[in-house]
Amino acid sequence: MSFFDNPIDPPKLTNGWINNETNHGSGIEIPIFYPATGQQVSVLVEDTGDDVDKAVMSARQTFDKSNWSKLSTEKRIEILEDCRQIILDNADELARLECLATGLILREIKGFHIQRAAYNFRFFAQYISQAHGERFDNTEGYLTLVNREPAGVVGLIAPWNAPLALATMKIAAAIAFGNCAVLKPSEQTPFSLSKLVSLLKDILPPGVLNLINGRGSVTGSQLVAHPGIDRISFTGGTVTGRQVMMEAGKQLTPCTMELGGKSANIIFASADYERALDGALIGIYSNNGQQCLAGSRILVEDRIFDKFVNSFIERTKNITVGDPLKNETEIGPIASKQHMERILSFANTAEKDGDEILVGGKKASDHKNGYFIEPTAVLAKSNNSKTCQEEIFGPFASFLSFKSEEEAINLANDTEFGLVSYVWSDHMPTIMKVSNAMRSGVVWINTPMMRELRAPFGGFGNSGVGREGGYSCEQFYTEEKTVSIPKSPLTLKGFGR
Ligand code: NDP
Repeated sequence: MSFFDNPIDPPKLTNGWINNETNHGSGIEIPIFYPATGQQVSVLVEDTGDDVDKAVMSARQTFDKSNWSKLSTEKRIEILEDCRQIILDNADELARLECLATGLILREIKGFHIQRAAYNFRFFAQYISQAHGERFDNTEGYLTLVNREPAGVVGLIAPWNAPLALATMKIAAAIAFGNCAVLKPSEQTPFSLSKLVSLLKDILPPGVLNLINGRGSVTGSQLVAHPGIDRISFTGGTVTGRQVMMEAGKQLTPCTMELGGKSANIIFASADYERALDGALIGIYSNNGQQCLAGSRILVEDRIFDKFVNSFIERTKNITVGDPLKNETEIGPIASKQHMERILSFANTAEKDGDEILVGGKKASDHKNGYFIEPTAVLAKSNNSKTCQEEIFGPFASFLSFKSEEEAINLANDTEFGLVSYVWSDHMPTIMKVSNAMRSGVVWINTPMMRELRAPFGGFGNSGVGREGGYSCEQFYTEEKTVSIPKSPLTLKGFGR
């Protein structure tokens, strides 16, 4: 089966959506490729200055002039639930479009990404149904209320590695708290989000959710610099995140930055061996290896190091790399040719740095035109190797051994990043000591990855600024307003009586 045998054709031309109408961009045409075959499947028309301005002004107009930001909670919950339902009703088409641009495995898109995208709307519907405010009573006869008001027009910049799952977290949070939004997907992966916005136009009033397409350096940076934007929520690489934040800083636009990682997956001899092995494989190879929370530095206690590494190599050799449409596929193609080449360049870097390639390191030879690489693991010479310090963002693991809890902690924290850490042990004192010492926003114990949406998600250091999650999103997507009222009329002695 291929996409071209399927009734859902890829869109010939991908346009933006402004004010619930399709917008034909005024910029260059950018080809979009299917990563599994390297074939061009569509053309995206870039939105530039005037389009960006039109999208922001549409959101601004709706925010300032309509009753959107003042809807009752009941109505907003209904809208969020409708958004969830429309995703589920169109799951098959959305999943295929997601696969077409990203090369993610269709089975995983249907099983996880679509479900998460739909759930993001339900999650925020449930969240706002329970939201409560702060009040301070009886301070010198005053009642003080802390109101939360929508922030305004928010710019949402989404990456290519999981467009639907990641962008819907931003969209659902933005509209749950009464904002209007301008979304810019990655120019490589526009299909699923463009389809989603075209579906949501039947639910959301014009101007609430607008979508612009184009390169980050053009469309994205124009969005960030636009004076009509009140918040920027960004997920992507650290280098780009820094640029976005510097640009946003010129206008004091608050940002959340969900950035890269080089997360330690620490495996103690006291761990359940098979579970830790499965966890290490899932931690680095899921989502075709392209995820910020990957456990890409696998630190293993020296007592079990050789055995564990050998088991990992054996399992890696058994992995089915191939067609993302096939059920049995475990790793599909890398999202773009350029990114595939970048990942492969780390195999050369590894050799130069004195790392030993244990498995993989090459383009997968069975797939000439697609962007497939062999799942790869290296034995790092030290934690200073580039493979241990730079985010590779692919199915590429680095192994290091440690002798003691202290050494594991030092290695894990010896990085510019601090997104997540994984700890595998059945020894409670070890779990407590190591998890407390981790300099990362999230610590997962004896589990590959577990995203609790009510809890904050984000990183220390160069892994980010701010957090995403229930209360974190409420704080980010709203402005706080303090209102103080005397409980009975005051007797004032003003000036100049
Ligand atoms: P980027 O950080 O460049 O892209 C993320 C998003 O930001 C995309 O929508 C991109 O648009 C947009 N963007 C790029 N430049 C700007 C800008 N100046 N202003 C506003 N928006 C911008 O990721 P890359 O694709 O370059 O990947 C580089 C590395 O980043 C990866 O190898 C990986 O290490 C990391 N990464 C981390 C992600 C995460 O989940 N934390 C997600 C993606 C990447 P466009 O793609 O259209 O240029």
